Amino acid sequence: MIGERNSGNDGAVTASYDDAQPVDPPFWKTKTLAEMTADEWESLCDGCGKCCLEKLQDRWTRRVSYTEVACRLLDIEACRCSRYPQRRRHVPECEQLTAENVRRFTWLPSTCAYRLLARGDDLPWWHPLVSGDPETVHLAGASVRGRAIPHRRAGPLEHHIVTWPT
Ligand code: SF4
Ligand code: SF4
Repeated sequence: MIGERNSGNDGAVTASYDDAQPVDPPFWKTKTLAEMTADEWESLCDGCGKCCLEKLQDRWTRRVSYTEVACRLLDIEACRCSRYPQRRRHVPECEQLTAENVRRFTWLPSTCAYRLLARGDDLPWWHPLVSGDPETVHLAGASVRGRAIPHRRAGPLEHHIVTWPT
């Protein structure tokens, strides 16, 4: 037998590599965005909060600039929407991301899981689905935690344009 390990304290065999079963690839590697269930779709969000920063669009070029100012419903510490189910009642301009429109939302940050999968890329190591830990998105510096400022304290958005969310 190869690869057998023993716990060393009571003689019980703890693992045998002969018995190892092949691991199924995760859903985001086997399904298209349109094929995912609602729960799978929601779990793709890495919780970075970057899409929930206020943005400005140039009237002439249509170019979108990010600001460091959080949407008024964003919990900056948690990097999550504080009223997600009712959010569009409070923030009607909040966009609903779908498998159909994700490619049109070119303002999504390049790290956004929906954008990555839509263009055929894999999820990064710090994505909670990969790491198994919802904190890794923050530890990797990929979220707005510690960087966004509350809407009520911001003043004119033009004073807060930043490039780091892209
Ligand atoms: S940018 Fe994408 S991954 Fe990040 S919070 Fe928004 S939808 Fe979720
Ligand atoms: S309403 Fe919620 S989901 Fe929409 S931008 Fe604001 S914080 Fe994000």
